[in-house]
Parts: sequence; structure tokens; C-alpha cells
Amino acid sequence: MKHIAIIGSGPAGYYTAEAAQKQWGDGVMIDIFDRLPVPFGLIRTGVAPDHQSIKGVSKRYEAVAQSDNVRFLGNVTVGEHITIAELENLYDAVVLATGAPHDKKLGMEGEDLSGVYGSAAFVGWYNGHPHFATLDPDVSGTSAVVIGNGNVALDVARILAKTRAEFAGSDIVAHALDILETSRIEQITILGRRGPHQIAMTTKELGELAHLERACPRVDPADLPEEGEDALLEPGQRKSVTHLRGFAAIPESHRADKDIEIDFDFFASPKRLIGEGGKVTGVEVERTKLDGGRAVGTGETYVVPASLVVCCIGYQTSPIPGVPFEESAGRFANVDGRILPGLYCVGWARRGPSGTIGTNRPDGFSVVERIVEDMASGEISGTHQGGEGFDALAKARGIEPVRFRDWKKIEAAEVERARHDAPREKFVHVDHMIEAAKG
Ligand code: NAP
Repeated sequence: MKHIAIIGSGPAGYYTAEAAQKQWGDGVMIDIFDRLPVPFGLIRTGVAPDHQSIKGVSKRYEAVAQSDNVRFLGNVTVGEHITIAELENLYDAVVLATGAPHDKKLGMEGEDLSGVYGSAAFVGWYNGHPHFATLDPDVSGTSAVVIGNGNVALDVARILAKTRAEFAGSDIVAHALDILETSRIEQITILGRRGPHQIAMTTKELGELAHLERACPRVDPADLPEEGEDALLEPGQRKSVTHLRGFAAIPESHRADKDIEIDFDFFASPKRLIGEGGKVTGVEVERTKLDGGRAVGTGETYVVPASLVVCCIGYQTSPIPGVPFEESAGRFANVDGRILPGLYCVGWARRGPSGTIGTNRPDGFSVVERIVEDMASGEISGTHQGGEGFDALAKARGIEPVRFRDWKKIEAAEVERARHDAPREKFVHVDHMIEAAKG
């Protein structure tokens, strides 16, 4: 019997479990740990609440979770309740599928002003992540700035722009919906330090901005490259740029009917965040131009007013004491998922925050191949105690993991307390999740 511990129950964790089942069938026991009492990681707390169809992938993970040889052990924090060294002693292989839960820093003056948030915090807030439940962003000003030209920037801009009615069918948490309903924001500026051809926004998500009830996107036609140059782009990117061209062509008369403008400010690199009395009031930006695909400053600066700034510039993995970490890339130091024989990483913890949910599937299969190689070469032995050893240690330490059947009780309670037009109302405090798990 092989014993595998997977740390993190998001897509990377469950695809790894699925790959291990395919590799060893009934000959493997898999324990999936999570620091939260609820599974599925970014499917629950990262994917936008108004993109419910994407969340449907959790059904696939559920099938894996409910197999006899897979256990979910929630509310167990590795590094606090149990160390990596202890897990390595208990399991044949330990796979870190811990994602990239921390925001990359802009590294500039004013980043700590009130009203400035990283996207992990802001997205976590509207998605009910317990760590960000009390964020309470101030949306009483008229201008917001979203920094970055990726899909997360799009999610944040769209969520800020939607009306309450447009959240019907979503699982945005009540505390966020109530605050967003009081929003006085009229201008959302999306800052991109490069140009329209360099966006990292997928076509469908970008297209959604043209269909919002009270908001309208704006692109300055002067920022768009010659149309013929679009032919050089790969097809998906070309379609996204076609949306930007469409936004540039929206007539002023249509724009006048909308309360909120979502302005794409390209070639605009943030220099510092400006504030008054400890609160952000604007972003000083330097106009850039492209030089070999890189943004270089032109020296021309201006200020974009903002009482709310959300930095959507990417994420990084949390280092774990004793585990080699690559600071510059914000992920564990690894070669093809192998950190050391016996210790592996997968998903964003392996490659940094890139790709779609599906990208994690081949990653899961690839990390299982590394484990197979290390078992075959004798680098790791199959003589570990596995879950039984963990259970004994948990008992001795008074750790009570939340199991998958407990999560199903939490899930049922969340469905039961949902608003009439929502699939669920998430618990946003760990204590409340545990209470629901206990029935
Ligand atoms: P991302 O795709 O890496 O985009 C980050 C953006 O931040 C880029 O435009 C980057 O510009 C910019 N940036 C980085 N450092 C900056 C700085 N110092 N100043 C100004 N701008 C800076 O990251 P993300 O949007 O956080 O998304 C993470 C991953 O999740 C991506 O793979 C994304 O596709 C995925 N995701 C997908 C969906 C979806 O499919 N619906 C939704 C959300 C997230 P440069 O290009 O110039 O570096």
C-alpha cells in the first residue's frame, strides 16, 4: 500500500489524488489536508461568484473525495498542527498543493494606505474566505483603480460594477453584496502597464463587460495598434483584442446612459499611491511605451483619483519553514514538481499563478510520475504508516479534522440558508463552519 499526503484541497490537490488513483488503483491511500474546514480551494474562494458554471468542476473532485481510499482532513494547518517533517515521516510522498494565496507586492510608496487592497484579500472578501471576512472596503468614493491587465483585474472590475440584481444566481456572500449595494463608484480605471496586445484577459470574460446593466467599458482608440497587427496574435488573444476594438467604438450616446465607466488606461505604470490622512486618494502613473515588449517609462506622469485601489498583479505561494523556496518566482524551488525525493509540489505552488483550472490536471499526473520514478529508483520507500499514523498523532494532539461527510453537512446548511436567488450562503467564519459540521 502506498501512502500519499496532499496539502491543499483545491484543483491541484484533487487532480493529484485522481492521478494517484489512476496509477495505483486500490493500492494507494490518500489523505488531503486543508487548513479550512471546507474543500476545493480557489473553486470556492477564487472563482468569481457570478461564474457558477466554472464551479461545477467541483463535482468531479467530489467523486474522487468520496472514494474509499481518499480522505479529506480539513481544519488542519500544516506548519501549526503538524510539520512537513512529521508528514514526511508518516507518508511515502508529501505533495504541496497549497496554491499561491498571497498577493505580490507592488513595492512602492503608499501601498499600506487604507483603501488599498491586494486581489487575494479583495476576491477573498466577496467570496467569503474566512481570513478576509472583515475587510469592509470603503466604496463611498466615486473612483476606483484596478491595477493589472489579467483575468483577476476583470473579475474585480466587473464585481464592482454590477447591480444587486445582476448577482442573482451567484453565491457572492451577503456581507459583500450589502456593501457593494451602497457603492457610489462611477469610474473604474483598469491600469495596464503595457498595451492592448499584451493583456492577459480571456475573451469570454472580457466580452462580459459590454453587457453590464449600469456600466460601460471605454478604450481610447489611440491606444490600439494598427488593426493589421492583430493577425500576429494567437487566435484567443486576437479575439480578446477584437473586444477592445469594440469597446473603443462604443458611441458616446450609449455611454451617456450608463452610471459607471470602466476605463482601460493602457501604457500606464503605477509609480506611487497617494493619500491623505492615511487613506488613499489616487495613483500616480507614468506613461509608458513598449520597447521589445517591455514597458519603459516616458517620464510623463499624471494622477488617477481613487478612494479604492485593488492590485491584481499576481500571487505568490506561502513559504513553509524548511522547504526550499524560489523568492523571485514566488513558488517552491522544484524541478518538474520534485522538491526533494518524497516532497513534491503541484499547481500554482509548483509553477506560479498561471493557467486555467484545467492546467492543473496534467500537473497532477506529472507529479505522480515523479513519485513513481522515485519509488522505482529506491529514493523513497513504501514503508510508511500513512493515515493511521496521522490519526494517532491527531488524537494525541487533540486535533479533530473535518471530514468530507462533515463538509457535506456544512454544504447542506449553506444551501438551506441561501438567499432566494442564490445557490448557497457561505459561512464566512470557521467557528460557524464547525458548528454546521457538527449538525
Ligand atoms: P496575471 O494573468 O499574471 O496578470 C497580472 C497582471 O498584472 C498583468 O497584466 C501584469 O502585467 C500586471 N502586473 C504585474 N506586476 C505589475 C506591476 N508591478 N505594475 C503593474 N502591473 C503589473 O494574474 P491574475 O490576473 O492574478 O491571474 C492569475 C491566474 O488566474 C491567471 O492564469 C488567470 O488567467 C487565472 N484566472 C482565470 C480566470 C478565468 O479564466 N475566468 C479568472 C481569474 C483568474 P504584465 O503583463 O506587464 O506583466
